[in-house]
Amino acid sequence: MEKWDIIIVGGGLAGLTSAIALSGFGHRVLLFETNTYPHHKVCGEYVSNEVRPYLESLGVDIMKAGGIAISNFEISTENGHKVETTLPLGGMGISRYLFDDLLYEKAKAQGVHFSFSKVSHITYANDAFIVTNNEQTFNASIVLGAYGKRSSLDKQLKRSFSFKKQDWLAVKAHYKHPNFEPNLVALHNFEGGYGGLSKTETGAVNFCYLAHYESFKRYNDIEAFNKAVVARNPFLKEFFEKAEPIFDKPMAIAQIAFDKKAPVENHILMCGDTAGLIHPLCGNGMAMAIHSAKIASEQVHRFISEPDYTRQQLEKEYRKQWNKIFKNRLWFGRRLQNVLLNKTWMNTGIRVAKKSTSVLNYVISKTHGKPIV
Ligand SMILES: Cc1cc2nc3c(=O)[nH]c(=O)nc-3n(C[C@H](O)[C@H](O)[C@H](O)COP(=O)(O)OP(=O)(O)OC[C@H]3O[C@@H](n4cnc5c(N)ncnc54)[C@H](O)[C@@H]3O)c2cc1C
Repeated sequence: MEKWDIIIVGGGLAGLTSAIALSGFGHRVLLFETNTYPHHKVCGEYVSNEVRPYLESLGVDIMKAGGIAISNFEISTENGHKVETTLPLGGMGISRYLFDDLLYEKAKAQGVHFSFSKVSHITYANDAFIVTNNEQTFNASIVLGAYGKRSSLDKQLKRSFSFKKQDWLAVKAHYKHPNFEPNLVALHNFEGGYGGLSKTETGAVNFCYLAHYESFKRYNDIEAFNKAVVARNPFLKEFFEKAEPIFDKPMAIAQIAFDKKAPVENHILMCGDTAGLIHPLCGNGMAMAIHSAKIASEQVHRFISEPDYTRQQLEKEYRKQWNKIFKNRLWFGRRLQNVLLNKTWMNTGIRVAKKSTSVLNYVISKTHGKPIV
């Protein structure tokens, strides 16, 4: 059986960032990912500047790779009441096609080993893990779970959300648009959902939305839903009128879970969405995935290099740090989504924010952290 210091399950932002950090500390890392790179992913593609210094310290520079600086934010109600502000921290527009690939190339150059296969089982016994894909078993002292929002592994771990039917679906596509402002990220509401617009490094505008299945099921077809529901927001109507689709058809994912999850399960340290998914309207899930990877990597490095630092201490410390940094943001994100999807609250919120954008900036600051290094 192959033996590794660390096995990472999932090569999205959390898995790849952990792989770069841990290989940088000198550890032998094997990462499993089902898809080869590069590939598109359903995501709003706005990354908060919160993680820019940390990524740069790992040798990944989004802006040098063509990322677009974003400093302005606007939000509108279903019927077109809008408020604009400058983002306190700002962010970058980059496609997941490029972003994940940049991290993959960096990890590969640093000696991380990749297996492009699906992990089917993770078991823990006698202070070690056995990880199984379709063909082989692998042994490691540490496993990081970075396999995203939902996987069959969650059922094996008996995580409660994985047995529930989830009501959210998400759709994403890139468009050519004649005059979308490059430094803008826009969030527009529609019945039963909301969508974000921002530019990526290719000049394409990414439109990604989250919709409640109750709202979608009457149409059960993306084009029909876009015309009948999404485009009822006047800003989105105008966007669709001018925009030209680049993808053959939009990408879609269903069964998105925003339920509470645990950051450690059966001794596996969970990172990114596997530990908890913040509502996309916060525009901060990617930064959280990267930040959680940083915390996990530092803790794992300590566990491997300090003989007196026990597994129990490692798990306790990771859980503590994760909760300290992310728990309140996730709670706030849940409340915020309730406001956004309630017409009366949303109209009142926009009226208040129009009088003073400091309210909006306060809300943004509650779901974001300070830059990390
Ligand atoms: C609609 C929507 C819009 C969003 N918009 C934004 C935004 O604008 N800004 C922002 O910051 N965040 C946004 N987010 C959140 C952001 O996309 C996630 O938080 C981020 O992708 C989390 O990264 P991750 O590495 O945890 O998971 P992922 O990027 O999902 O990576 C998980 C990886 O694991 C792999 N995998 C799964 N199971 C297995 C297995 N068994 N074996 C091997 N590999 C496996 C998958 O193929 C995948 O590549 C949005 C989310 C949604 C749903």
